[in-house]
Amino acid sequence: MKIRFEGKRALVTGAGKGIGREIALLLARLGATVIAISRTAADLESLRQEMGGEMIVADLGDADVARAAASRAGRVDLLVNNAGISIPQSFLETTVEAFDATLAVNVRAALLVSQVVSRGMIERGEGGAIVNLSSQASMVGLLDHAAYCASKGALDQLTRVMALELGPHQIRVNAVNPTVTLTPMGEMAWSDPAKSGPMKARIPLGRFARPLDIAHAVAYLLSNEADMITGTMLPVDGGFLSA
Ligand code: NDP
Repeated sequence: MKIRFEGKRALVTGAGKGIGREIALLLARLGATVIAISRTAADLESLRQEMGGEMIVADLGDADVARAAASRAGRVDLLVNNAGISIPQSFLETTVEAFDATLAVNVRAALLVSQVVSRGMIERGEGGAIVNLSSQASMVGLLDHAAYCASKGALDQLTRVMALELGPHQIRVNAVNPTVTLTPMGEMAWSDPAKSGPMKARIPLGRFARPLDIAHAVAYLLSNEADMITGTMLPVDGGFLSA
């Protein structure tokens, strides 16, 4: 089994940092032409220097900007909806602003970008593959993550409906659901040992994930080796969800 993406154009959102950057770099190493969307121009410039590809600076929390960015990407064979934010707040203190901002990036942007991309895939009639970056937080409640957990639960359900409706066009849609992963977001939410200790203790493999652990799962689901797999949620969680 050898995964290669020569001749494929792969769009990765939120590719400036963390998991998205690792996914973009891996897909480029596996031969894809990567189109990267992110918010901070400097991150994309350093990514372009590292791997080549095409860079689009856009804030996907804005619906019109998200649609326009997806259109600018042109032909896309493989899509990774990775951009996401987390604004830790307790349930009682969750604000309208934080809730709406979280849903806008974590769910609505995936919907809008996927609509544009999958219309193109359907027109070309060659199928395609989409992976949504969900989280273990879609399946269990996490303290201080009300908006985030709601957004990832919604993203899993969006993934299932996309798989149903796009399957007849040979477009596969899956989600990857990581545990705590050591990225800028992971450090922000889990750097306090009082929080990270108990979380790590619930992971049978005894460690948090590395971005490359997640990128490998995404590459597999995008590849032809996974061509009978659609509508799944794949935990990359060291066993957390089995406890
Ligand atoms: P990071 O915060 O480390 O990186 C997120 C990237 O997405 C950044 O480049 C960021 O750009 C970009 N981004 C965020 N919002 C937008 C936006 N509105 N428009 C365009 N780009 C945006 O996050 P991670 O790498 O940790 O997370 C990636 C995905 O994985 C997310 O969906 C997250 O929910 C999920 N995940 C992460 C886990 C973790 O523990 N880290 C665990 C489970 C799931 P900028 O910095 O310029 O804002």
